[in-house]
Amino acid sequence: MTDSLTLARSPEAASLIDLEARYGARNYKPLDVVLTRGEGVYVWDVEERRYLDCLSAYSAVNQGHCHPKIREALVAQAGRLTLTSRAFRNDQLAPFYEELCALTGSHRALPMNSGAEAVESALKVARKWGYEVKGVPQGAAEIIVAAGNFHGRTLAIVGFSTDPQSRTGFGPFPPGFKVVPYGDAAALEAAMTPNTVGVLLEPIQGEAGVIIPPPGYLRAARALCTRHRALLILDEIQTGLGRTGALLAEEHEGIEADLTLIGKALAGGFYPVSAVLSNDEAMGVLKPGEHGSTFGGNPLACAVARAALRVLVEEGMIENAARIGARLQAALRSVASAAVKEVRGRGLMIAVELHPDAGGARRLCEGLQRRGFLCKETHDHTIRVCPPLILTAAQADEIAGAFEVELSVLSR
Ligand SMILES: *Cc1c(COP(=O)(O)O)cnc(C)c1O
Repeated sequence: MTDSLTLARSPEAASLIDLEARYGARNYKPLDVVLTRGEGVYVWDVEERRYLDCLSAYSAVNQGHCHPKIREALVAQAGRLTLTSRAFRNDQLAPFYEELCALTGSHRALPMNSGAEAVESALKVARKWGYEVKGVPQGAAEIIVAAGNFHGRTLAIVGFSTDPQSRTGFGPFPPGFKVVPYGDAAALEAAMTPNTVGVLLEPIQGEAGVIIPPPGYLRAARALCTRHRALLILDEIQTGLGRTGALLAEEHEGIEADLTLIGKALAGGFYPVSAVLSNDEAMGVLKPGEHGSTFGGNPLACAVARAALRVLVEEGMIENAARIGARLQAALRSVASAAVKEVRGRGLMIAVELHPDAGGARRLCEGLQRRGFLCKETHDHTIRVCPPLILTAAQADEIAGAFEVELSVLSR
């Protein structure tokens, strides 16, 4: 690496990194870039260096950083009313429900905060539906999940994770989950029993490294759930809200889940807002007092989410993700060196997977950082390329150009 590309670290950045190390829980290992400002696809560090954000906070800032219209909604609502709890009504929740259900074609929605809470809520709804509607014997409900899943960090969720780092040392875990290989419809069918109440899947596995199942897999899962009378639960917390070039990734296979989970970009990165989208039959099992959240459905969250959904649609971000995503994928394929095993993706949910002996995804990310592009590796060999959905063609080409240079210096 040439000296001109070595980034000088200011005393301010060094001191902030030291303070984090001294006082923080050590559950993350971030790149050593300390960000202070963001606008659109760009973020700036405390040394005023600009970077193109190729992670989008794991797809929570699909609309770009600090989108002015979402900010306006946040500021206006923050000066009016922020939290009532659900003991009382507020004037933002009803229009949020109406707009969200109209946009997604859902009958009902349950607002929560984090993605993991939306997942937990769906698991509770599926079990209750199983006992009360399907007639599964009490305590016998089974939910099928896929190997390689990522659905969040709660005890139940990490309990059915297949990633040792996520689950080791955290047991005992709640029972009632079965793991099958991802993308294998025959294995899913074989695992279904009369006590199966739900099948929880990501339409594309994000944290696993943008794993795209074989065509027809989700359609087969839909058909199996219908035939065996189980709820299909799609976790679209990362794939949803335009990321794959469709509002929801389920659209690529022309199916509808019984429960769909969204979060992350639902509030454009300003605020944690998640939701369970449902048909009447499944959500119908929840009665007053049986589930809730102090912050779920609060007026600030609802106002921000309404604006975040509005700009996603009105500013054509979903179509842009499809168009620019295809261009970026093609460009990345064209610059792939011998170090690259595969470039894959859908829309602007893209991954570059390196050969295991190519010198490491972390090294590539550090090289890209020096060139002004922020990427994060997932596992050891895969780099996700998931910029905000407002990316331009010229910016897509710049990303591919940076990859071209950095891939050429890898060892293979
Ligand atoms: C990020 C993510 C979650 C968890 O969301 P949190 O807001 O971090 O709890 C769940 N499922 C998927 C697919 C995700 O990408």
